[in-house]
Amino acid sequence: MSLDEDSLAYHSEDPPGKIEIRTTKSTSTQRDLSLAYSPGVAAPCREIDDRENDAYQYTAKGNLIGVVSNGSAVLGLGDIGAQASKPVMEGKGVLFKRFADIDVFDIELDLDDPDAFVESVAAMEPTFGGINLEDIAAPECFRIEERLRERMDIPVFHDDQHGTAIITGAALLNAVELAEKDLESISVTFAGAGAAALATAQFFVSLGVKREHITMVDIDGILTTERAEAGDLDPYSREFARDVPEGELADAMVDADVFVGLSVGGIVSPEMIQSMAADPIIFAMANPEPEIDYETAKSARSDDVIMATGRSDYPNQVNNVLGFPFIFRGALDVRAAEINEEMKVAAAEAIADLTKQDVPDAVRKAYGDQPLQFGPEYIIPKPLDPRVLFQVAPAVARAAIDSDAARIEMDIETYVERLEA
Ligand code: NAP
Ligand code: MG
Repeated sequence: MSLDEDSLAYHSEDPPGKIEIRTTKSTSTQRDLSLAYSPGVAAPCREIDDRENDAYQYTAKGNLIGVVSNGSAVLGLGDIGAQASKPVMEGKGVLFKRFADIDVFDIELDLDDPDAFVESVAAMEPTFGGINLEDIAAPECFRIEERLRERMDIPVFHDDQHGTAIITGAALLNAVELAEKDLESISVTFAGAGAAALATAQFFVSLGVKREHITMVDIDGILTTERAEAGDLDPYSREFARDVPEGELADAMVDADVFVGLSVGGIVSPEMIQSMAADPIIFAMANPEPEIDYETAKSARSDDVIMATGRSDYPNQVNNVLGFPFIFRGALDVRAAEINEEMKVAAAEAIADLTKQDVPDAVRKAYGDQPLQFGPEYIIPKPLDPRVLFQVAPAVARAAIDSDAARIEMDIETYVERLEA
């Protein structure tokens, strides 16, 4: 069977879809039912009425994420709308559950208007411990997230932006170390100035890359101050406009230390790779076809390339599943009010650090006995590595406590033991 046929069979097998709800308390006696619902349920209601945060103690809020989309930028499928996006949002729920035992309500909102979207999501705060915004088109996604972060006292995290940024950031930290380059002096060229590229560029700045060393290229060429002044750039991409002559991607690649592709497949040529600085770092992450494919980029130069893609069939897959389940795990476990920059940096550093530790045999086996040792072919951990949970969630929790985003204190050592149990 083809992948499509297989997938339709997988999804339609009874019961249709991929998730269901289960109760977590005993419901076998009359007494149980009068505790679960009226009249007994009034007791936790009164507690929460007195102290709002008791919702974390008496309801599922603290382990429940809303995965919310309007279906305006779904995978590579584009604006397919809310209803058609539901398999993706259920799928995101599957990953949250599988990797971090987090429960998800997938919420598909039939709303194109960003204001109406913001109002709807903000009103859901009592239900959830956090909101994962998903597959919302740029540039609306930036303003939507910004406003929800202002309004809400729970984490709001647009994974297509920040999940991508964090994993790519982790890969950058390790690639730069291997290539013996320096974050403060590298020049970075981005293809794409959409949701993923802008957030990743912004995060690179948080990691120590100089904003003035970043050149961004969209479908019309380099983002220049001239284009900004002409009103050609939205307020978010304008932040990366540079006072340089207008040009195309090929111009922006000359002498670049790092190329980050978050645009469309096949737009980078071997000549562009040859024009880059020595020991270039190439993250070609357009899905499913990268900006340049792995072999072509590697063979364009004499073995000095460090390369990552979004694909699982080559080394160094930048896969968001390395991030969001564990970032939310850590955030939920300290009842965080937000996922701030400190928490994101901590996640990236934890992922980068893990890559340098010995890989257990079980992980190596799951990936066909590849060597998996820190080096150009292994700059980020594998998605199925169970240690990512134990490494990233505590790092995020600690950063939340240190940056005052946490509602509760927690002993991190004990927390790691609890996760590992
Ligand atoms: P997006 O918001 O639609 O952004 C796409 C950007 O690419 C836009 O800025 C667009 O410019 C630009 N672009 C289109 N054609 C171009 C060209 N020929 N040259 C230069 N730039 C061009 O999409 P997104 O969510 O950021 O995702 C972008 C890509 O990254 C997708 O392929 C996605 O699958 C991939 N991605 C991969 C990962 C991963 O591997 N982990 C994570 C996230 C995203 P205009 O706005 O001017 O059209
Ligand atoms: Mg997505």
